[in-house]
Amino acid sequence: MADRFSNRVGGEWVAPASGEYIENRNPARQTDLIGMWPESGREDVARAVESAQRGFEKWRATPAPQRGMVLKDAADLMTERKEDLARAMTREMGKVLEETRGDVQEAIDTGYYAATEGRRLFGHTVPSELRDKWAMSFRRPIGVSGVITPFNFPIAVPSWKIFPALLCGNSVIWKPAEDVPHSANLFVEILLEAGLPGDVIQLVHGRGEVVGAALVEHSGVPVISFTGSTETGSRIGEVAGRMNKRVSLEMGGKNAQIVMPDADMELALEGVLWGGFGTTGQRCTATSRLLLHESVHDEFVDRLVERAGQLRLGDGSAEATDVGPLINQAALEKVQRYMSVARDEGVEVACGGQRASGSGLDDGFFFEPTVLIGVKPGMRVEQEEIFGPVLSVIVFSDLEEAVRVNNDVEYGLSSAIYTSDVRSAFSAISDLDNGITYVNAPTIGAEAHLPFGGVKQTGNGHREGGWEVFEFFSETKVAYLDYSGRLQRAQIDTHS
Ligand code: NAP
Repeated sequence: MADRFSNRVGGEWVAPASGEYIENRNPARQTDLIGMWPESGREDVARAVESAQRGFEKWRATPAPQRGMVLKDAADLMTERKEDLARAMTREMGKVLEETRGDVQEAIDTGYYAATEGRRLFGHTVPSELRDKWAMSFRRPIGVSGVITPFNFPIAVPSWKIFPALLCGNSVIWKPAEDVPHSANLFVEILLEAGLPGDVIQLVHGRGEVVGAALVEHSGVPVISFTGSTETGSRIGEVAGRMNKRVSLEMGGKNAQIVMPDADMELALEGVLWGGFGTTGQRCTATSRLLLHESVHDEFVDRLVERAGQLRLGDGSAEATDVGPLINQAALEKVQRYMSVARDEGVEVACGGQRASGSGLDDGFFFEPTVLIGVKPGMRVEQEEIFGPVLSVIVFSDLEEAVRVNNDVEYGLSSAIYTSDVRSAFSAISDLDNGITYVNAPTIGAEAHLPFGGVKQTGNGHREGGWEVFEFFSETKVAYLDYSGRLQRAQIDTHS
């Protein structure tokens, strides 16, 4: 009998009202049952909201530097338990240990960064237009924040939301992705151990279309922070918009790496292997398009195919593994469907293109690292997010064309250019229509202390990370103090 895990609601670890549970299995080995997690419903969400509202009243009164100390202690605990967290994450999510260690480290960095913000949370003091009057702005917490997160960064992405939400004085209700519930329990245990009061954080497991939707639709949750697919995010945005909620949507990507003729080819090759096949291509910032200058195309593709074929697939917990499995059966079927799309579009599969089989692979959702060549702008494999280890190679003749191809998709998260020409580098930084551009580095690799997010269908204008996320999780309030002892009228007495 597998272990049963709990929700965290009302300051206690509790069973779901339904009494029903959902299995969670290892994507590398389906025979490995990790545990059973609550299949919660609307009543669990309603209880969580009541508790979070109580938690908010206490937490908002805690001075921000003290709130920051709780986050610092949480980051310390994550540092101590980094290896255990990484191993639990690899078991339920599949990516290799080196990457899950990085996932935990990103949360640690985010925790320390947020902790220091407790001693800043700057407002502005500006001169008033009237005599003997002060004018200033400051930041206030908003209330109960609903946090909905994807499977691919089970600890890092939640930390981008939960740490700043808490630092700003909000309470949190978290609905993690169904495929990675264990990482969520471990994260919440750490927050509680660090001293976060019990009803300031609530964890409600279950199906997105039930628990996630209930959170978005609840009038007691004024803030929603979501990361996931554009399809789900758009639906959330509609509901949140009708209810005038504050909503941050971080969604899909179709990121390109551009290789100019003057690039360091070895570096560009290492970059695309890491950007395209790291996390089995399941990153919002994964490189899914490779734009090669016509003069380097043939040689680069030969080297790429050779190196992609050498990547070792397997259980991410084995140190020798380069590429783990896809997250689940539906993800595998989606990637397989795109192989048919590619063939129908007349694209050549230069390597990979099928489910991987063999020793240690048959019981998991493994897919061979795939390179598609002869891809033309506008084809579906060039436009749509596949979210697997699939690279579409497109040939271009000058930078202007590469920029046009990069920009002509509905997404706009990250991009990369490899070049030794400073003019090409700066033109690309200025003209590529993305939230992030890397020069001589792959499309993945964001750092916790800089703003993160994208344009067009990737986001709705907010940023996570860095200094900007604190604006999302707090409300600006302005105060005027008039000590003149007489009625002073703005705009009128200044001009009389
Ligand atoms: P997803 O299917 O959209 O799920 C994301 C979260 O939303 C999960 O917790 C899911 O719960 C929940 N959900 C599903 N339906 C919902 C509904 N109707 N109402 C409210 N919540 C709902 O995305 P995913 O497959 O986990 O993640 C992959 C996607 O995330 C990719 O598109 C990737 O590009 C994107 N992503 C973006 C960023 C970024 O910062 N831009 C970062 C990472 C990932 P269940 O798990 O129970 O379905």
